[in-house]
Amino acid sequence: MRKKIVAGNWKMNNNTADTRNLVKELILKGKNLWGKCEVIIAPPFTSLASAIEEARETKIQVSGQDLFWEDKGAFTGQISGPMLKEIGCSHVIVGHSERRQYFGETNQSVNKKIVAAIRNGLIPIFCLGETLQERESGSTFEVLKRQLVEGLKSLVIDNPLRFIVAYEPVWAIGTGKTAGLEQAQEVHTFVRGELAGLWGKKIASEIRILYGGSVKPANAHDLMGCPDIDGGLIGGASLKADDFIGIIEQGTGI
Ligand code: PEP
Repeated sequence: MRKKIVAGNWKMNNNTADTRNLVKELILKGKNLWGKCEVIIAPPFTSLASAIEEARETKIQVSGQDLFWEDKGAFTGQISGPMLKEIGCSHVIVGHSERRQYFGETNQSVNKKIVAAIRNGLIPIFCLGETLQERESGSTFEVLKRQLVEGLKSLVIDNPLRFIVAYEPVWAIGTGKTAGLEQAQEVHTFVRGELAGLWGKKIASEIRILYGGSVKPANAHDLMGCPDIDGGLIGGASLKADDFIGIIEQGTGI
C-alpha cells in the first residue's frame, strides 16, 4: 500500500521569521499526524535553513522548489543539487508549471534537473499538467505523454520510494477550481500506465502520484480517496497551518 504524501509548496512566500513561526505551529498542531502520511514542505531558498533547523527533530521533510542541472560553476543565480543536499533537503520540486510558464522551463530542462536531483540523492517531485487551452482542445493526454516521455527520457528508477510525480492541471493552480474526481483519477491512471511502460508495472504501482490544484481541507478527503491519488501538492493552503493540517487530517482519513 502506498503511503500518502502531503507536500506544501510555499512558492515565494515566508521570510525566515515567518518560516520559523509556521513550522513551529505545524509541529504543535500536527504532532499526532506525522506517522499517518509523509509531510514535506518547500520553502523558498532563503528560508530552507530555518525550516530545516525548526523541523530537525520531527518527521517533516524539507524540499527545494527548483535546482539547476549542473553541480557547480559560473551559473549566476542558480542553486545546485549538492547545495540543497548539504543544507539538509530531502526532496526537490522539478518542472512546476510556474517554472514552465514564467522561466522558460522545458521538458528537456526538466529532464536534466531530474537527473541532477537523483545524482545528488534528492527525491524529485516531478510536476506535469495541461493548460486550460490544452484541455479544451482535447490534447490533455498528448501533452501529458510528451511531458512524461521527454521529461523522463533515459531515466531508470529502481526505487519507487525515491521518485514522486505531481499531476497539477495548470487551470486548477491557485484558481479555486479543482479537477473533478473522475477527471483527476483518469489522469492519474493514465500517468501510472505511462510509468509502467517506462519502468515496469511493479515500480509504477509503487510510485506516489500526487494531485495538485486548489486542494483544501474541504476537498482533500474525496481527492485523496481516489484509488490512484496518493496525496497532494498544496500551494495556497500550505501557508496556513490549520489548512495544511486539515488537509493531512482529511486526506489521511483521521
Ligand atoms: C501549486 O502551486 O503547486 C498548487 C497546487 O497551488 P494551489 O494549491 O494554490 O492551487
